[in-house]
Amino acid sequence: MNIEINPVETVIAAAREFLGDRLSTNTSIREQHAKGEDANQPVLPDAVAFVENTGEVSRLLALCNAHGVAVTPFGAGTSLEGHVVPVRKGISLDLSRMTAILEVNAEDMDCLVEPGVSRHQLNDYLRDQGLFFPVDPGSHCSLGGMVATRASGTNAVRYGTMREATLGLEVVLADGRVIQTGGRTRKAANGYDLTRLFIGSEGTLGVVTKIRLRLQGIPEATTAAVCQFESLQAAVETVIMTMQAGIPVARIELADADQMRASIAYSKLPYEPLPTLFLEFHGSPAGVREQAEAVEAIAIDMGGKGFAWAEDTETRNKLWKARHDAWWAANALYPGCRGITTDVCVPISKLAEAIVSAKEEAVAAGQNTCIVGHVGDGNYHVVILFPEGDPQGLEKAWELDRKIVAKGLSLGGTCSGEHGVGLGKREFLAVEHGEDVLDVMRSLKATLDPKGILNPGKMFPGN
Ligand SMILES: Cc1cc2nc3c(=O)[nH]c(=O)nc-3n(C[C@H](O)[C@H](O)[C@H](O)COP(=O)(O)OP(=O)(O)OC[C@H]3O[C@@H](n4cnc5c(N)ncnc54)[C@H](O)[C@@H]3O)c2cc1C
Repeated sequence: MNIEINPVETVIAAAREFLGDRLSTNTSIREQHAKGEDANQPVLPDAVAFVENTGEVSRLLALCNAHGVAVTPFGAGTSLEGHVVPVRKGISLDLSRMTAILEVNAEDMDCLVEPGVSRHQLNDYLRDQGLFFPVDPGSHCSLGGMVATRASGTNAVRYGTMREATLGLEVVLADGRVIQTGGRTRKAANGYDLTRLFIGSEGTLGVVTKIRLRLQGIPEATTAAVCQFESLQAAVETVIMTMQAGIPVARIELADADQMRASIAYSKLPYEPLPTLFLEFHGSPAGVREQAEAVEAIAIDMGGKGFAWAEDTETRNKLWKARHDAWWAANALYPGCRGITTDVCVPISKLAEAIVSAKEEAVAAGQNTCIVGHVGDGNYHVVILFPEGDPQGLEKAWELDRKIVAKGLSLGGTCSGEHGVGLGKREFLAVEHGEDVLDVMRSLKATLDPKGILNPGKMFPGN
């Protein structure tokens, strides 16, 4: 039997033949691909491949599969759970150069893009056509990464997540085969829903090389508002009552007093450091006013300090930019500290209990935290700050994270509403799903990636 001496060297030499200097072993490039925006230990891949088309992805995967070399897909590297750390080294497959917008079908409100396109690039391209793409994570990520993590953002309460926004995919399988899933129709009852299987699979089942997305019409009228409260409980109760009343808010976001302190300092917001709701309403001018007045009445009943309206585009943009910068603001609050973040999502009726108890746990643990949340979906992030580079501080932060997740699960929630599993949430999957479900997931993985080359070490506990 021939035992290959160095399969990685063989793959690198063979891949250079069709990628040339886009197959890099340069140390600083490998360092840039050693982790994402998470607090995990970086691991350098053996090489980084900058692919430019589906054919190259297919050839590279076939090669890596033949030699049993690990491949970690890399979009923009903004994921928060260690998703892109190449724990078994091998090749980091960088898709950021695949940035073509291939089709826009304005009449059908769909488009076809390559995975390196960002939501900002797509929205700039669509603006003149009266269309927009609503899924808006607070990072400069790629649409491929968003598919792979089943991402969402502030608009999900109205327009859904990547699960609702994705109509179909082109996927390269571990052995290099290229498949098309889904299609352009709004519904289909034509077999297993493979599109949904790949959405949220975090690069462990295949590499996404084209994405067909559902678009939305730019609303006729848009109004934003800010409402502040004396207590976290009152702010969250306002959200629960708004959602239970069926008011179709486009955005309803929470920042606790500590997050407001951070955002006021970082984004120069003209508000007080109090629990705050940021809202947006979409529709006709009359409809928007009606929705806003209905929420205002609920907020005032709950002791809210009235609405500060933000009707002009400039004020609205500043507000949402500040919301999207919340993570950086929280990380800048205490010099020398950085954060890890929880991503618990609970049924809406349990939201107040979940968030209030998370803050109480943090105070009891003597831990600095900022809370932000896409609360209309029941999803909240507790950013737990610890001294950067201090392993004990990091472990203490993880202890609090575990308590907050455990409480969320006990309320019928999930450990991750949008960030995904990666390395950081693997330990919760068995508790949340049970071993039988994990076995089914593992057998899907074994079918699609029998040699386990795709983003190994992720998703499954003990893997
Ligand atoms: C400041 C900040 C704010 C954030 N806000 C949000 C938020 O509001 N909502 C939210 O959902 N997330 C948020 N995130 C998390 C992150 O931005 C998302 O998870 C995003 O979808 C990751 O995209 P990416 O392009 O950076 O992917 P990467 O980090 O590069 O990769 C993420 C995962 O996807 C896989 N992958 C990437 N591209 C492909 C592909 N083409 N085919 C197959 N697999 C692939 C990778 O292997 C990896 O497992 C935030 C992060 C930061 C730093």
